[in-house]
Amino acid sequence: MNFIEEIVEKDLQNKLNDGRIQTRFPPEPNGYLHIGHVKAICMDFGIAQKYNGVCNLRFDDTNPVKEDTEYVDSIMEDIAWLGFKWGNVYYASDYFDKLYDLAIRFIKEGKAYVDEQTAEQIAQQKGTPTEPGVESPYRNRPVEENLRLFQKMQAGEIEDGKMVLRAKIDMANPNMHFRDPIMYRIITTHPHHRTGRKWNVYPMYDFAHGQSDYFEGVTHSICTLEFVVHRPLYDYFLDQFVEGGYRPHQYEFNRLNITYTVMSKRKMLQLVKEGLVAGWDDPRMPTVCGLRRRGYTPSSIHSFIDKIGYTKVEGTIDLGLLEHTIREDLKEQAPRMCAIFDPVKLVITNYPEGQKETIIAENIDGKPELGTREMPFGKELYIERGDFMEDAPKDFYRLSPNGREVRLKNAYIIQATGCEKDAEGNITVYCTYDADSKSGTEGGNRKVKSTINWVECQSAVDAEARLYDRLFAVEDPSASDKDFRELLNPDSLKVVTCKVESSLSNAKAFDHFQFLKQGYFVVDPDTTADHLVFNRTASLKDNWKK
Ligand code: ATP
Ligand code: MG
Repeated sequence: MNFIEEIVEKDLQNKLNDGRIQTRFPPEPNGYLHIGHVKAICMDFGIAQKYNGVCNLRFDDTNPVKEDTEYVDSIMEDIAWLGFKWGNVYYASDYFDKLYDLAIRFIKEGKAYVDEQTAEQIAQQKGTPTEPGVESPYRNRPVEENLRLFQKMQAGEIEDGKMVLRAKIDMANPNMHFRDPIMYRIITTHPHHRTGRKWNVYPMYDFAHGQSDYFEGVTHSICTLEFVVHRPLYDYFLDQFVEGGYRPHQYEFNRLNITYTVMSKRKMLQLVKEGLVAGWDDPRMPTVCGLRRRGYTPSSIHSFIDKIGYTKVEGTIDLGLLEHTIREDLKEQAPRMCAIFDPVKLVITNYPEGQKETIIAENIDGKPELGTREMPFGKELYIERGDFMEDAPKDFYRLSPNGREVRLKNAYIIQATGCEKDAEGNITVYCTYDADSKSGTEGGNRKVKSTINWVECQSAVDAEARLYDRLFAVEDPSASDKDFRELLNPDSLKVVTCKVESSLSNAKAFDHFQFLKQGYFVVDPDTTADHLVFNRTASLKDNWKK
């Protein structure tokens, strides 16, 4: 049980808000969801699920400059893919009328005023945590003037940046957020994705969030620790108008940071816009759609979130842990296949000319319930260049013309007899096979020191493999003095071709495989009928230390 669940259980015992549980996940539709958001999603939806409550989806769309329906759609798709079901879909923009009316009420009650100073002047007057701020010269203008000016702001008669509506609270308050925070600003440059040109003034986060929670009936408004300092203001605004017994409460947990990546939507957008990645769903991105395209499964992501847990202390999680969870997940289900990345030809000299056979191989050794597949076998095969050595040292146990035997995976035992190089340096390896050693027959039990992978030459299919690595070269790109774009890992993508088993030609986008000795791969949606594309999800080597 995490500490938020403990709070919820106490609240339930105390019949707070009549024992009702309602949460919300409140993304701003100004970018795609990332794995950090998933931590919040699992909390918001998880609490509702566990305590028979409801979790709504609320788009916090109060800034038309950066918001778009493209993001709304992607957010809904990603949450559904993670396996969560929201109650209702709400938009902060649904409340623009109510919030405007509330602002008018604040003005009438002498709790808000229109300030005509520039943003710089207002910032200069803020003071510091130890020094009080300076009151605006517009702070004490009459209510009627404030009303008239705020209405002019909304009517589109005032230029952007020329006026703001501020709450009249306390310029000396030790909590800087109480020093007459801005409630409304003018934005006329962009239409809103839902309300179009109806509004010329838009509420700030602090004036919109708690009120939206209240309008919807949210009981537990859960967010990340940077909002702790906003909580008194959240409560202050509610105190001004809430009546009756019900009110929402804000709780905070630590946000997720992961090494070798960035999780700010602003930075991710820059990477996308400047073409430094292929899009929001580039498999190197920490976005949900990027992770999906990389080959992450919903269950692996859930297991990652379970492992990191929720606390009240900020920290950074090792990217290795995320990779560990996808390996653990795919280990159980991904069919093992042969893909040869650096092929050399192997000719079995004593295998009958023109003969072909079909080998039935288990998708995962020892797990027949996960199915089998057919592997064509013949006289000429591709094997990995590194599995052959002409003059091998004593401790080289793979193929070499030194009398040692090796097994071809799922097939026969062979012995190399020599090799030939053509003018271009292409190697052909020659070997003989033991016709009585086929796997699955009695001779298949004969053990040799090593097993190598292969695909039959005529049936092999060429595939593109995109070998992804961490996006950044440094652990914490945000900690550096350099621009984060200069810290990208130059080797984060290598594109190669490989020869894969013919059965893979039927693979569908997002199918998962393990390429033996190579790593976990997923079929990329760029795949077409005659061009297979695989993304490397993770290498096989797990360097995560528990
Ligand atoms: P960014 O700074 O990248 O723009 P944001 O916090 O502004 O992110 P929102 O769309 O406002 O993004 O976030 C929606 C919810 O997701 C909020 O409740 C926020 O606290 C939570 N959230 C955002 N980033 C993280 C993170 N890294 N870890 C946990 N929760 C997060
Ligand atoms: Mg935000």
